[in-house]
Amino acid sequence: MKWTKQGHEFDAVYKTMQEKMEFYFFGAGDYGKQFINIMSKEITIKGFIDNNRQKHGEVFVGYNCESLDAIDFTPKKTGIVITVSQIQRGAITKQLQANGYVHNQDFFIIEEFLSIYFVYKYNQVYFSSISFLPSTACNLKCRACLNFNPYAKQFYVREWKDIKKDIDLFFQCVDKIMLFHVSGGEPMLYKGIAEIIEYIDHNYGDRIDTLRTVTNGTIVPDDSVLERLSKCKVEITVDDYREAVPQYSGDFSKLIEKLQKYQIRYYINKTAEWIDLAPDKTDFSHWSEEQLQKHFDECCQAWQELRDGRLHSCNYDAYATVAGINPEPDEEIFDLNNFNDNRKKEIVEFRLGYNGKGYTNFCKKCRGFSEKNQYKGKPAKQME
Ligand code: SF4
Repeated sequence: MKWTKQGHEFDAVYKTMQEKMEFYFFGAGDYGKQFINIMSKEITIKGFIDNNRQKHGEVFVGYNCESLDAIDFTPKKTGIVITVSQIQRGAITKQLQANGYVHNQDFFIIEEFLSIYFVYKYNQVYFSSISFLPSTACNLKCRACLNFNPYAKQFYVREWKDIKKDIDLFFQCVDKIMLFHVSGGEPMLYKGIAEIIEYIDHNYGDRIDTLRTVTNGTIVPDDSVLERLSKCKVEITVDDYREAVPQYSGDFSKLIEKLQKYQIRYYINKTAEWIDLAPDKTDFSHWSEEQLQKHFDECCQAWQELRDGRLHSCNYDAYATVAGINPEPDEEIFDLNNFNDNRKKEIVEFRLGYNGKGYTNFCKKCRGFSEKNQYKGKPAKQME
Protein backbone atom coordinates (compact mmCIF):
# COMPACT_ATOMS: atom_id res chain seq x y z
CA MET A 1 0.00 0.00 0.00
CA LYS A 2 1.08 3.54 -0.62
CA TRP A 3 1.43 5.70 2.45
CA THR A 4 -1.14 8.50 2.55
CA LYS A 5 -1.46 9.13 6.32
CA GLN A 6 1.99 8.10 7.55
CA GLY A 7 1.82 7.30 11.27
CA HIS A 8 -2.01 7.19 11.22
CA GLU A 9 -2.86 4.51 8.65
CA PHE A 10 -4.40 2.21 11.26
CA ASP A 11 -6.19 4.71 13.52
CA ALA A 12 -9.62 3.63 12.29
CA VAL A 13 -8.75 -0.08 12.37
CA TYR A 14 -7.68 0.10 16.01
CA LYS A 15 -10.89 1.95 16.89
CA THR A 16 -12.88 -0.91 15.32
CA MET A 17 -10.79 -3.48 17.19
CA GLN A 18 -11.42 -1.68 20.48
CA GLU A 19 -15.18 -1.80 19.92
CA LYS A 20 -15.17 -5.59 19.67
CA MET A 21 -16.07 -7.49 22.82
CA GLU A 22 -15.01 -10.95 21.68
CA PHE A 23 -13.00 -12.72 19.01
CA TYR A 24 -12.91 -16.01 17.18
CA PHE A 25 -9.63 -17.25 15.73
CA PHE A 26 -10.01 -18.78 12.27
CA GLY A 27 -7.43 -21.58 12.09
CA ALA A 28 -6.98 -24.19 14.84
CA GLY A 29 -3.33 -24.94 14.14
CA ASP A 30 0.16 -23.91 15.26
CA TYR A 31 -0.29 -20.27 14.37
CA GLY A 32 -3.59 -20.12 16.28
CA LYS A 33 -1.99 -21.80 19.28
CA GLN A 34 0.88 -19.33 19.30
CA PHE A 35 -1.55 -16.42 19.06
CA ILE A 36 -3.57 -17.75 21.99
CA ASN A 37 -0.43 -17.66 24.13
CA ILE A 38 0.10 -14.01 23.23
CA MET A 39 -3.49 -12.74 23.31
CA SER A 40 -5.39 -14.82 25.89
CA LYS A 41 -4.85 -12.25 28.65
CA GLU A 42 -5.53 -9.33 26.32
CA ILE A 43 -8.89 -10.06 24.69
CA THR A 44 -11.92 -12.31 25.13
CA ILE A 45 -11.54 -15.35 22.91
CA LYS A 46 -14.79 -17.14 22.06
CA GLY A 47 -13.20 -20.09 20.30
CA PHE A 48 -11.76 -21.37 17.06
CA ILE A 49 -13.21 -21.66 13.59
CA ASP A 50 -11.75 -24.23 11.22
CA ASN A 51 -12.71 -25.65 7.84
CA ASN A 52 -11.52 -29.12 8.82
CA ARG A 53 -14.67 -31.02 9.79
CA GLN A 54 -12.72 -33.41 11.98
CA LYS A 55 -11.92 -30.52 14.31
CA HIS A 56 -15.57 -29.44 14.73
CA GLY A 57 -16.85 -30.10 18.23
CA GLU A 58 -13.30 -30.67 19.48
CA VAL A 59 -11.53 -28.59 22.11
CA PHE A 60 -8.29 -27.00 20.87
CA VAL A 61 -5.91 -25.50 23.46
CA GLY A 62 -8.88 -25.04 25.78
CA TYR A 63 -11.31 -23.50 23.26
CA ASN A 64 -14.17 -25.01 21.27
CA CYS A 65 -13.67 -25.36 17.55
CA GLU A 66 -16.58 -24.91 15.14
CA SER A 67 -17.38 -24.29 11.51
CA LEU A 68 -17.92 -20.74 10.26
CA ASP A 69 -21.64 -21.46 9.84
CA ALA A 70 -22.00 -22.56 13.47
CA ILE A 71 -20.47 -19.56 15.26
CA ASP A 72 -22.40 -17.04 17.27
CA PHE A 73 -21.43 -13.84 15.42
CA THR A 74 -22.91 -10.50 16.43
CA PRO A 75 -21.95 -7.68 14.03
CA LYS A 76 -19.92 -4.87 15.66
CA LYS A 77 -19.48 -6.91 18.85
CA THR A 78 -17.69 -9.99 17.46
CA GLY A 79 -14.46 -10.07 15.49
CA ILE A 80 -12.64 -12.85 13.64
CA VAL A 81 -8.85 -13.05 13.44
CA ILE A 82 -7.44 -15.21 10.64
CA THR A 83 -4.71 -17.34 12.22
CA VAL A 84 -3.41 -19.44 9.33
CA SER A 85 -0.30 -19.19 7.19
CA GLN A 86 -0.02 -16.75 4.28
CA ILE A 87 -0.55 -19.51 1.73
CA GLN A 88 -3.87 -20.65 3.22
CA ARG A 89 -5.27 -17.27 4.02
CA GLY A 90 -6.25 -16.17 0.54
CA ALA A 91 -8.96 -18.83 0.40
CA ILE A 92 -10.21 -18.03 3.91
CA THR A 93 -10.33 -14.31 3.16
CA LYS A 94 -12.46 -15.06 0.10
CA GLN A 95 -14.69 -17.40 2.12
CA LEU A 96 -15.30 -14.69 4.72
CA GLN A 97 -15.96 -12.03 2.10
CA ALA A 98 -18.37 -14.34 0.27
CA ASN A 99 -20.28 -14.65 3.56
CA GLY A 100 -20.53 -10.88 3.93
CA TYR A 101 -17.67 -10.30 6.39
CA VAL A 102 -15.54 -7.20 5.75
CA HIS A 103 -11.77 -6.95 6.25
CA ASN A 104 -10.78 -4.71 9.19
CA GLN A 105 -14.40 -4.37 10.15
CA ASP A 106 -15.55 -7.93 10.86
CA PHE A 107 -12.31 -9.82 10.39
CA PHE A 108 -8.61 -9.13 10.80
CA ILE A 109 -5.37 -10.75 9.71
CA ILE A 110 -3.15 -12.07 12.51
CA GLU A 111 -0.04 -9.98 11.71
CA GLU A 112 -2.04 -6.80 11.38
CA PHE A 113 -4.04 -7.47 14.53
CA LEU A 114 -0.92 -8.20 16.59
CA SER A 115 1.14 -5.19 15.56
CA ILE A 116 -1.72 -2.67 15.54
CA TYR A 117 -2.99 -3.81 18.93
CA PHE A 118 0.39 -3.55 20.66
CA VAL A 119 1.53 -0.28 19.13
CA TYR A 120 -1.77 1.50 19.82
CA LYS A 121 -2.45 0.01 23.23
CA TYR A 122 1.06 -0.20 24.71
CA ASN A 123 3.21 1.88 22.35
CA GLN A 124 5.19 -1.30 21.71
CA VAL A 125 6.55 -2.50 18.39
CA TYR A 126 5.52 -6.16 18.12
CA PHE A 127 6.41 -7.71 14.77
CA SER A 128 5.05 -10.99 13.47
CA SER A 129 8.30 -11.95 11.76
CA ILE A 130 11.54 -10.91 10.16
CA SER A 131 13.92 -12.74 7.89
CA PHE A 132 17.63 -12.46 8.45
CA LEU A 133 20.14 -13.94 6.08
CA PRO A 134 23.82 -14.48 6.92
CA SER A 135 24.69 -15.75 3.46
CA THR A 136 23.20 -16.87 0.16
CA ALA A 137 25.75 -19.71 -0.17
CA CYS A 138 24.07 -23.01 -0.96
CA ASN A 139 25.11 -26.46 -2.15
CA LEU A 140 21.95 -27.01 -4.24
CA LYS A 141 21.11 -25.38 -7.55
CA CYS A 142 17.35 -24.99 -7.45
CA ARG A 143 15.93 -23.59 -10.64
CA ALA A 144 13.26 -21.49 -8.85
CA CYS A 145 15.54 -20.45 -5.97
CA LEU A 146 13.92 -17.53 -4.14
CA ASN A 147 17.39 -16.09 -3.49
CA PHE A 148 17.78 -16.04 -7.28
CA ASN A 149 21.12 -17.83 -6.92
CA PRO A 150 21.02 -19.14 -10.53
CA TYR A 151 21.27 -15.51 -11.72
CA ALA A 152 23.97 -14.39 -9.27
CA LYS A 153 27.62 -14.24 -10.28
CA GLN A 154 28.76 -15.09 -6.74
CA PHE A 155 27.37 -15.87 -3.33
CA TYR A 156 26.85 -13.05 -0.89
CA VAL A 157 28.40 -13.81 2.51
CA ARG A 158 28.13 -11.43 5.43
CA GLU A 159 30.74 -10.70 8.10
CA TRP A 160 29.95 -11.52 11.73
CA LYS A 161 30.49 -7.90 12.88
CA ASP A 162 27.85 -6.67 10.39
CA ILE A 163 25.44 -9.40 11.41
CA LYS A 164 25.81 -8.54 15.09
CA LYS A 165 25.33 -4.84 14.36
CA ASP A 166 22.07 -5.56 12.51
CA ILE A 167 20.70 -7.79 15.26
CA ASP A 168 21.46 -5.19 17.97
CA LEU A 169 19.99 -2.35 15.94
CA PHE A 170 16.86 -4.36 15.17
CA PHE A 171 16.20 -5.01 18.86
CA GLN A 172 16.75 -1.33 19.69
CA CYS A 173 13.72 -0.61 17.49
CA VAL A 174 11.52 -3.68 17.92
CA ASP A 175 10.20 -4.65 21.36
CA LYS A 176 8.90 -8.13 20.58
CA ILE A 177 8.66 -10.51 17.68
CA MET A 178 6.74 -13.71 17.06
CA LEU A 179 9.21 -15.27 14.63
CA PHE A 180 12.85 -14.35 14.10
CA HIS A 181 13.92 -16.39 11.09
CA VAL A 182 17.57 -17.01 10.27
CA SER A 183 17.38 -17.90 6.64
CA GLY A 184 19.68 -18.59 3.68
CA GLY A 185 21.17 -19.78 1.33
CA GLU A 186 21.81 -22.87 3.34
CA PRO A 187 22.34 -21.63 6.91
CA MET A 188 24.17 -24.82 7.94
CA LEU A 189 26.96 -23.93 5.52
CA TYR A 190 27.62 -20.64 7.28
CA LYS A 191 30.64 -21.09 9.52
CA GLY A 192 29.25 -18.88 12.30
CA ILE A 193 25.70 -20.27 12.37
CA ALA A 194 25.96 -21.53 15.98
CA GLU A 195 27.43 -18.20 17.06
CA ILE A 196 24.56 -16.25 15.46
CA ILE A 197 21.86 -18.41 17.03
CA GLU A 198 23.56 -18.27 20.44
CA TYR A 199 23.93 -14.51 20.23
CA ILE A 200 20.27 -13.94 19.36
CA ASP A 201 18.99 -16.45 21.89
CA HIS A 202 21.16 -15.30 24.79
CA ASN A 203 20.67 -11.58 24.24
CA TYR A 204 17.14 -11.32 22.89
CA GLY A 205 15.50 -14.73 23.46
CA ASP A 206 13.07 -13.28 26.01
CA ARG A 207 11.70 -10.96 23.31
CA ILE A 208 11.23 -13.65 20.67
CA ASP A 209 8.32 -16.10 20.65
CA THR A 210 10.02 -18.41 18.11
CA LEU A 211 13.63 -18.37 16.97
CA ARG A 212 13.90 -20.52 13.88
CA THR A 213 16.38 -21.46 11.26
CA VAL A 214 16.08 -23.76 8.29
CA THR A 215 18.07 -26.32 6.37
CA ASN A 216 17.65 -27.98 3.00
CA GLY A 217 18.22 -31.36 4.68
CA THR A 218 21.37 -32.20 2.76
CA ILE A 219 24.00 -30.98 5.25
CA VAL A 220 24.90 -32.70 8.51
CA PRO A 221 26.46 -30.03 10.74
CA ASP A 222 29.44 -30.87 12.96
CA ASP A 223 28.67 -32.22 16.40
CA SER A 224 30.20 -29.07 17.91
CA VAL A 225 27.59 -26.96 16.09
CA LEU A 226 24.71 -29.22 17.11
CA GLU A 227 25.92 -29.24 20.70
CA ARG A 228 25.77 -25.43 20.78
CA LEU A 229 22.37 -25.30 19.07
CA SER A 230 20.99 -27.83 21.54
CA LYS A 231 21.61 -25.32 24.34
CA CYS A 232 19.55 -22.62 22.58
CA LYS A 233 15.81 -22.15 22.36
CA VAL A 234 15.76 -22.61 18.61
CA GLU A 235 13.79 -24.77 16.21
CA ILE A 236 14.87 -25.95 12.79
CA THR A 237 12.71 -26.43 9.73
CA VAL A 238 14.13 -29.35 7.74
CA ASP A 239 13.01 -29.09 4.14
CA ASP A 240 12.45 -32.50 2.62
CA TYR A 241 13.77 -32.34 -0.94
CA ARG A 242 14.57 -36.06 -1.21
CA GLU A 243 12.41 -36.49 -4.31
CA ALA A 244 14.36 -33.78 -6.15
CA VAL A 245 17.81 -34.71 -4.80
CA PRO A 246 17.67 -38.41 -3.86
CA GLN A 247 21.46 -38.55 -3.71
CA TYR A 248 21.20 -36.71 -0.36
CA SER A 249 18.69 -39.11 1.23
CA GLY A 250 21.39 -40.64 3.43
CA ASP A 251 22.41 -37.19 4.70
CA PHE A 252 18.77 -36.36 5.40
CA SER A 253 18.39 -39.46 7.61
CA LYS A 254 21.70 -38.78 9.37
CA LEU A 255 20.64 -35.18 10.04
CA ILE A 256 17.33 -36.27 11.59
CA GLU A 257 19.17 -38.83 13.76
CA LYS A 258 21.55 -36.14 14.97
CA LEU A 259 18.77 -33.64 15.69
CA GLN A 260 17.04 -36.29 17.75
CA LYS A 261 20.27 -37.22 19.53
CA TYR A 262 20.89 -33.59 20.49
CA GLN A 263 17.18 -33.06 21.27
CA ILE A 264 16.95 -30.08 18.95
CA ARG A 265 13.38 -29.19 18.06
CA TYR A 266 12.72 -29.66 14.33
CA TYR A 267 9.89 -29.86 11.83
CA ILE A 268 10.06 -31.66 8.52
CA ASN A 269 8.60 -29.48 5.81
CA LYS A 270 7.42 -31.12 2.62
CA THR A 271 5.53 -28.99 0.13
CA ALA A 272 3.73 -30.14 -2.98
CA GLU A 273 4.93 -27.35 -5.22
CA TRP A 274 7.04 -24.23 -5.39
CA ILE A 275 6.02 -20.94 -6.82
CA ASP A 276 8.44 -19.49 -9.37
CA LEU A 277 8.69 -15.69 -9.33
CA ALA A 278 9.96 -16.04 -12.89
CA PRO A 279 12.00 -12.84 -13.32
CA ASP A 280 13.38 -14.18 -16.62
CA LYS A 281 9.86 -14.33 -18.09
CA THR A 282 8.45 -11.13 -16.63
CA ASP A 283 8.45 -7.52 -17.71
CA PHE A 284 5.82 -5.27 -16.16
CA SER A 285 7.91 -2.13 -16.60
CA HIS A 286 5.23 -0.67 -18.93
CA TRP A 287 2.58 -0.93 -16.20
CA SER A 288 1.11 2.21 -14.63
CA GLU A 289 1.71 3.13 -10.98
CA GLU A 290 -1.82 1.94 -10.19
CA GLN A 291 -1.24 -1.45 -11.81
CA LEU A 292 2.02 -1.94 -9.92
CA GLN A 293 0.39 -0.93 -6.64
CA LYS A 294 -2.40 -3.44 -7.25
CA HIS A 295 0.16 -6.13 -8.09
CA PHE A 296 2.00 -5.42 -4.80
CA ASP A 297 -1.23 -5.38 -2.76
CA GLU A 298 -2.44 -8.66 -4.27
CA CYS A 299 0.88 -10.38 -3.60
CA CYS A 300 0.64 -12.58 -0.51
CA GLN A 301 4.34 -12.47 0.29
CA ALA A 302 4.73 -11.46 3.91
CA TRP A 303 8.48 -11.46 4.51
CA GLN A 304 10.72 -8.50 5.01
CA GLU A 305 14.47 -8.71 5.25
CA LEU A 306 16.75 -7.09 7.80
CA ARG A 307 20.06 -6.14 6.20
CA ASP A 308 22.61 -3.37 6.65
CA GLY A 309 20.50 -1.54 9.20
CA ARG A 310 17.45 -1.47 6.96
CA LEU A 311 14.18 -3.31 6.66
CA HIS A 312 13.45 -4.11 3.04
CA SER A 313 9.80 -3.81 2.04
CA CYS A 314 9.88 -7.14 0.21
CA ASN A 315 12.36 -9.95 0.85
CA TYR A 316 12.46 -10.92 -2.78
CA ASP A 317 13.14 -7.41 -3.96
CA ALA A 318 16.13 -7.39 -1.56
CA TYR A 319 17.32 -10.81 -2.76
CA ALA A 320 17.02 -9.73 -6.39
CA THR A 321 19.20 -6.70 -5.66
CA VAL A 322 21.87 -8.94 -4.10
CA ALA A 323 21.68 -11.32 -7.08
CA GLY A 324 22.12 -8.37 -9.45
CA ILE A 325 18.79 -8.77 -11.27
CA ASN A 326 16.86 -5.85 -9.81
CA PRO A 327 16.90 -3.24 -12.57
CA GLU A 328 16.72 -0.38 -10.04
CA PRO A 329 17.87 -1.14 -6.47
CA ASP A 330 15.05 -0.10 -4.23
CA GLU A 331 14.42 2.86 -1.97
CA GLU A 332 11.43 1.18 -0.38
CA ILE A 333 13.29 0.54 2.85
CA PHE A 334 12.93 1.58 6.48
CA ASP A 335 16.28 2.79 7.79
CA LEU A 336 16.54 1.63 11.40
CA ASN A 337 19.29 4.17 12.01
CA ASN A 338 16.64 6.89 11.68
CA PHE A 339 14.17 5.24 14.04
CA ASN A 340 12.98 7.06 17.16
CA ASP A 341 10.12 6.60 19.62
CA ASN A 342 7.87 8.90 17.59
CA ARG A 343 8.12 6.55 14.61
CA LYS A 344 6.71 3.39 16.21
CA LYS A 345 3.46 3.49 14.26
CA GLU A 346 5.37 4.19 11.04
CA ILE A 347 7.64 1.19 11.44
CA VAL A 348 4.58 -0.98 12.11
CA GLU A 349 2.90 0.39 8.99
CA PHE A 350 6.00 -0.32 6.94
CA ARG A 351 6.17 -3.87 8.28
CA LEU A 352 2.50 -4.34 7.39
CA GLY A 353 3.06 -3.34 3.77
CA TYR A 354 3.03 0.44 3.51
CA ASN A 355 5.80 2.28 1.69
CA GLY A 356 6.45 5.43 -0.29
CA LYS A 357 5.28 4.44 -3.73
CA GLY A 358 3.08 1.44 -2.87
CA TYR A 359 5.21 -1.22 -4.56
CA THR A 360 8.86 -2.16 -4.99
CA ASN A 361 10.96 -1.89 -8.13
CA PHE A 362 11.30 -5.65 -8.42
CA CYS A 363 7.49 -5.93 -8.71
CA LYS A 364 8.14 -4.99 -12.36
CA LYS A 365 10.09 -8.24 -12.86
CA CYS A 366 8.22 -10.56 -10.54
CA ARG A 367 5.05 -12.65 -10.84
CA GLY A 368 4.45 -12.52 -7.08
CA PHE A 369 2.72 -14.88 -4.68
CA SER A 370 -0.84 -14.89 -5.90
CA GLU A 371 -3.27 -17.16 -7.66
CA LYS A 372 -2.55 -15.25 -10.86
CA ASN A 373 1.03 -16.58 -10.91
CA GLN A 374 0.80 -19.74 -12.98
CA TYR A 375 4.54 -20.47 -12.82
CA LYS A 376 4.78 -23.36 -10.41
CA GLY A 377 6.94 -26.43 -10.24
CA LYS A 378 8.26 -29.32 -8.22
CA PRO A 379 10.14 -28.24 -5.07
CA ALA A 380 13.93 -27.95 -5.40
CA LYS A 381 14.00 -28.95 -9.06
CA GLN A 382 17.68 -28.66 -9.96
CA MET A 383 19.26 -26.76 -12.84
CA GLU A 384 20.42 -28.94 -15.73
S1 SF4 B 1 5.36 -9.10 -6.65
FE1 SF4 B 1 7.43 -9.93 -6.13
S2 SF4 B 1 8.68 -8.13 -5.67
FE2 SF4 B 1 6.50 -7.49 -5.61
S3 SF4 B 1 5.91 -7.73 -3.45
FE3 SF4 B 1 5.40 -9.67 -4.48
S4 SF4 B 1 7.21 -11.00 -4.19
FE4 SF4 B 1 7.84 -8.88 -3.75
